[in-house]
Amino acid sequence: MNDKVNYRTCVCCKSLKYKYDMARIAVVDGKVSCDVSFKAGGRGMYICSLKCLEKISSSKKFSKIYNLVSDEEILKSIKEVLKNAE
Ligand SMILES: [Zn+2]
Repeated sequence: MNDKVNYRTCVCCKSLKYKYDMARIAVVDGKVSCDVSFKAGGRGMYICSLKCLEKISSSKKFSKIYNLVSDEEILKSIKEVLKNAE
């Protein structure tokens, strides 16, 4: 289980998944981006699937998170990453 360090919890469904199969949202100095290289510092959160992204965008429970990612460019990048992961 050497690989365990590379597992992260999805911010939406809370399931534990291999981080490179998810989209990483990085918050660096208050600036939000989709971290496609998985190398950005700062706080990060993970979204595991397009389904979860949809949930985040439609549920009030996740409005705080959605506010972070609601930028059109960021949403586009997240979708791209998750599409490739499926
Ligand atoms: Zn999820």
